[in-house]
Amino acid sequence: MVTQGTAAVRVGVIGVGVIGGDHIRRLLHAVTGATVVAVADADGARAQAVAEEFSIPRTHASGAELIADPEVDAILVASWGGTHEEYVVAAIAAGKPVFCEKPLATTSQACLNILAAEVAAGRRLVQVGFMRQYDPSYRAVKAELASGRLGAPLLAHCIHRNSSVTHSWSSEMMLNDACMHEFNIVPWLLEDDVVATQVLHPRPNSDAPAGLADPLLVLMHLRGGAIADVEVTMNGHYGYDVRAEVVGERGTVALPDPAAPLVRFEGTRSAHVALDWRERFETAYDIEMQEWVDAVVAGTSTGPSAWEGYVATAGAEAAVASLSSGALEPVDVIERPALYS
Ligand code: NAP
Repeated sequence: MVTQGTAAVRVGVIGVGVIGGDHIRRLLHAVTGATVVAVADADGARAQAVAEEFSIPRTHASGAELIADPEVDAILVASWGGTHEEYVVAAIAAGKPVFCEKPLATTSQACLNILAAEVAAGRRLVQVGFMRQYDPSYRAVKAELASGRLGAPLLAHCIHRNSSVTHSWSSEMMLNDACMHEFNIVPWLLEDDVVATQVLHPRPNSDAPAGLADPLLVLMHLRGGAIADVEVTMNGHYGYDVRAEVVGERGTVALPDPAAPLVRFEGTRSAHVALDWRERFETAYDIEMQEWVDAVVAGTSTGPSAWEGYVATAGAEAAVASLSSGALEPVDVIERPALYS
């Protein structure tokens, strides 16, 4: 709970790597109503360096210590996925709002443990970092679908292309990490649940690290009968490219290409393609962080919930099962607790 009368929400950040550092910069320079007062990271030297870079007053030896700090009002978790459960559950136990980067947790059982803690607390404290819900172009597509004039959605065609990845990437990570975003955004756009999924893999790109099934084609079957196909590519070479088109009964709606000047030069017509996710979704991350801070100040929770985190992880888990079996795998989830209705 934010202390009454404080000028700004005092945020403590756990995990100050790539996105943790970006969020700190955002909270300090792009967002109003928040400040960062403490950091913690498994790499203590990195935490210290980030604290010095941003003039953050305290560096804690552990995430648990940061969560217990009475000068910290709200927690931002940006360590790797396998650590999220512990920190999110501890933040809930401390009664502090917590923004958790995706995935909420790496297994559906860990997500269920978080849901149980939040349900026991009796109020929503968790927001998951599904930033696409804040991207203006995704919001425009959702508004068009909500207008109803296209009729019921029948199909969605999605693309999630990266330029290249390091050798540490596995085929499972393509589902758990990259396609995790589509396991959230497809149900959000279509306002429906993914009930089964199947993963197909064509001939792998010879430029991909050995053993990486790149690209993948992920089929998502929704409860109402719509089907989404998602191409997940890790070595697309030309840039970072996220697309979506929803086919309705009377028309279609697609994400526009991000605004970039059209250049005509020496016999070509060209436009810049984003190089990575940071560039493509910069505005979305800024809006996401502002709306989280605003909700914390208001004592509410408005963003992607722990429930959404759970069902996305369950979807990715079923996709990983399909990667081995080749079969259409069910996405089994519990009945939605009333807290998330
Ligand atoms: P990263 O650069 O590796 O940063 C993670 C940091 O957390 C590292 O400094 C790491 O230290 C530290 N850490 C590891 N275990 C820890 C623990 N138990 N307690 C505290 N700190 C710990 O990773 P990243 O790319 O920023 O990703 C972090 C999270 O954000 C992941 O869950 C990722 O999926 C998510 N993410 C989301 C988006 C999005 O679009 N929403 C984009 C990027 C990342 P070591 O290096 O010593 O392990």
